[in-house]
Amino acid sequence: LTFIESHDLVIIGGGPGGYVAAIKAAQLGFDTACVEKRGALGGTCLNIGCIPSKSLLNNSELFERVKKEGATRGINIPGEVTPNIVNLMKEKDKAVKQLTGGVEILFKKYGVKYYKGNASFIDEHQIKVDPIEGGEEAILDAKNIIVATGSDVSPFPGITIDEERIVTSTGALSLKEIPKRLAIIGGGIIGLEMGSVWNRLGSEVTVVEYQKAIGGAGMDAEVAKNIQKILTKQGMKFKTGAKVKTGVRNGEVVDVEYEDAKGKTQKIEADVLLVAVGRRPYTEGLNAEKIGLDFDKKNRVVIDSQYQTNIPHILCIGDVTFGPMLAHKAEDEGIAAVEFLKNGFGHVNYNNIPAVMYTHPEVAWTGQNEEQLKEAGIKYKTGKFPFLANSRAKTIQETDGFVKFIADADTQRILGVHIIGPNAGEMIAEANLALEYGASCEDVYRVCHAHPTMSEAFKEGAMTVFGNPINF
Ligand code: FAD
Repeated sequence: LTFIESHDLVIIGGGPGGYVAAIKAAQLGFDTACVEKRGALGGTCLNIGCIPSKSLLNNSELFERVKKEGATRGINIPGEVTPNIVNLMKEKDKAVKQLTGGVEILFKKYGVKYYKGNASFIDEHQIKVDPIEGGEEAILDAKNIIVATGSDVSPFPGITIDEERIVTSTGALSLKEIPKRLAIIGGGIIGLEMGSVWNRLGSEVTVVEYQKAIGGAGMDAEVAKNIQKILTKQGMKFKTGAKVKTGVRNGEVVDVEYEDAKGKTQKIEADVLLVAVGRRPYTEGLNAEKIGLDFDKKNRVVIDSQYQTNIPHILCIGDVTFGPMLAHKAEDEGIAAVEFLKNGFGHVNYNNIPAVMYTHPEVAWTGQNEEQLKEAGIKYKTGKFPFLANSRAKTIQETDGFVKFIADADTQRILGVHIIGPNAGEMIAEANLALEYGASCEDVYRVCHAHPTMSEAFKEGAMTVFGNPINF
């Protein structure tokens, strides 16, 4: 049985890009539908990404804190502090369920029609929905379409994922026991966050990274070097400039072979191997070839500055197209794309998209780093203020890290901010605001910041670029 429905706008994918676009569109008066095949809204981020990882990061940190620092911080705990992995996972699942369910409630509130199924193009205006829970097949006739199908994990050539012993981030978020030895291919943000979780819970973690530095694209080299030192102090091991050749499961262990920076073959035996070498755009089952949608060499959907594909009434946002694969970038694009449809204009500043690594301490940055500015031949000055000299950081014993400002040498305009520190992910929002309004360092340090707060380190970081801070 098939039924046909018409909508002003059909959005394919209910991740942060798609669901935000759907709500915004409904708010702006479009008759809007969203098709999602996962069985839950929220996409990668809410189901197998940002949200479950942050739950595990938070609770594993709490565990480690209590275990290692409880007594010195004045908490006496009779008996040994041990992790409870069943409850840890339950808490994570609860957070995921509440948030994905919340999006469904928002759809009802704003009148977004939700189709649970796989969407595939019949032609440029018609989309077939194959329901995942049985029932009728639907054909949606759409004036406009937004493709927001996201991304999935990039495979590592020759390594077979079983999500048990050889896992992706999805498997690493749901391990049933704490592996004694965890090997990770890839020292990017996802690898380091997952490594932190299991390191805190007791695993011996070894990260094998192809590049000379950890952190991945965009992380300032000085920041990358410093956070590597901090994570090493926490017990993680790093093999950088190392090229993985094989990863093979042998019963209950995984054997990893890599070539080290000197070209020598080395071996690691692990209980679990996490492959975290990046993500790739996802358009399987979409039948995009049928309508001739344009892709680039990296399989990203090609769009213009108004999110239009080569077929103008089909727009595209989020991980499946250009730019950093981040939830907030997808969300902002969702809003901008819908605003383009409604009003002919929208806004995302791609020079000011924050990136956050939720290790402890966190790493966060926005704008440009030193390497990018050198390459562009822009004259800049830097200033750095350490948390060691911040009174709040001292009182709570959180003194690792610094706030680093980079500003134009002539105009003093802020070009980038790079932070290692507790709650750096929250603090970076102040930098985003400053960059968006074209602030100079002086604009920032003339703003009164509360005492005693970490944000005073932000203010003093701004003071340090063209002068001296007070407390250092
Ligand atoms: P997705 O979230 O991937 O959503 C796309 C949706 O489309 C999926 O649910 C999929 O099922 C659906 N879909 C695909 N094809 C079809 C079809 N044909 N029919 C119907 N439905 C379809 N980002 C951050 O900003 N902060 C973080 O802390 C963070 N942590 C992460 C941690 C991990 C472990 C991972 C894996 C990712 C993390 N990310 C984080 C990245 C973030 O999850 C993505 O950038 C974000 O989800 C992209 O949103 P999206 O809407 O473009 O795509």
